[in-house]
Amino acid sequence: MNTTKEDMNNFMGNFPPKTFADGTCKILPSFGNVGVIETDEGLILFDIAPRQFHKIIFKELREFSDKPVKYIIYSHGHFDHAFGFASIIEEIKEKGWEMPQVIGHENILERFEKYRLLDKYHIWLNSQQFASAGVKQREGIVSAHDTLDPTIVLIGNDASYSFQLGKYNFEVYHDKGETDDSLWLFFPEKKVIFSGDLCMNPGFPNIGNPNKVQRYPKHWALAMEKMLEKDAEYILPGHGQLYEGKENVKKALSIRAEAMHFVHDEVVKRMNEGKWFEQIYHEMLEIYPDKFKNHEFLRPTYGCYRFAIHATYRLYHGWYNTGNPTDLFPAKSEDIAKEFLKINDAKTYLNHAKNLHENGKLQLALHILDIIIKGSNLIEKDILLETYALKANIFKRQAKEEPSFIAKNSYLNGAKELKELVKKLKREMR
Ligand SMILES: [Zn+2]
Repeated sequence: MNTTKEDMNNFMGNFPPKTFADGTCKILPSFGNVGVIETDEGLILFDIAPRQFHKIIFKELREFSDKPVKYIIYSHGHFDHAFGFASIIEEIKEKGWEMPQVIGHENILERFEKYRLLDKYHIWLNSQQFASAGVKQREGIVSAHDTLDPTIVLIGNDASYSFQLGKYNFEVYHDKGETDDSLWLFFPEKKVIFSGDLCMNPGFPNIGNPNKVQRYPKHWALAMEKMLEKDAEYILPGHGQLYEGKENVKKALSIRAEAMHFVHDEVVKRMNEGKWFEQIYHEMLEIYPDKFKNHEFLRPTYGCYRFAIHATYRLYHGWYNTGNPTDLFPAKSEDIAKEFLKINDAKTYLNHAKNLHENGKLQLALHILDIIIKGSNLIEKDILLETYALKANIFKRQAKEEPSFIAKNSYLNGAKELKELVKKLKREMR
């Protein structure tokens, strides 16, 4: 089932805020939802949106309730969940209120430290990953030099924390999944789960993101099962609209648990059979069950099954993916391409690629075009120009057909770079 425009709008937070659970809770949609709970003694915020949305989120918060913010809970430390605190803190200082307790897992501190260390790299990486997002979304890709650090830090893999505010009790749990610093919140009296990115609406879990660090399929499945035990009426997801009703909640959690178990266990089984990545990957594509493929909650809006296969393999395996010692200390790809160009000239490769392209074998055409591009300093400029243009066209076609936002943006970035190369070459040829 393909992803829709509506899925993307949901993912980006383009839907109205909503009060629920007898008026005690509100979802403030953003690129990274904010969950609000009102009690007699003040408010709890579950996540605080990206930095550039702090004013609008604050305004919506204050339309809901004028009570002071007593707790901020971080679902995890990604930029779309933990950086929009400026207006909240400003108000607290202005009114002379007590600073809120900020709850996070110990790994969030390491994450913030990593963001500081790799500041420029993350800005660059995220600008690639979100290339086609609105300007507002892309502005959120900011450095992490200014963070609101947790005051209550949950330690260890089995960490949990409970507290009371007003007449209500709250339970916070740690589970790995999209990240190693995930927390989720349960509000037992109203049966609401605040899941962060452990659950989105809709979308296949964002696991195996090609740009990012390791994620945790098995833990993810177990987290879903832990949430299922709560028999909740609502899930406020990290992105997208509220899940409402016990049946819907159950379906959202159980299908993700099942899919994560499936991808994890099937990859592990094949590793135990002594298979290398390529074989595992293509076998996994063949056995992907229709019940997941066609499920309304597992559309590859952002993450996708293909990435999840990588995530599982990488969880248990080093970087040597092929088992072919040729790949252990490989020659430069440029040098390899130049040897191929000694066997056949660029024109022959280009014609072959055109043929593949015409027959719909886009991926194979790309591999052949790369021989020409890698050996580009040997190639006549008019052939190179045609090669760049064909490759850009293929990327655009792939982007159009690609449901996953992350993969789509990779193709679009590739096409954009090639367009620049075409322009540069044309200038040189004048
Ligand atoms: Zn997120």
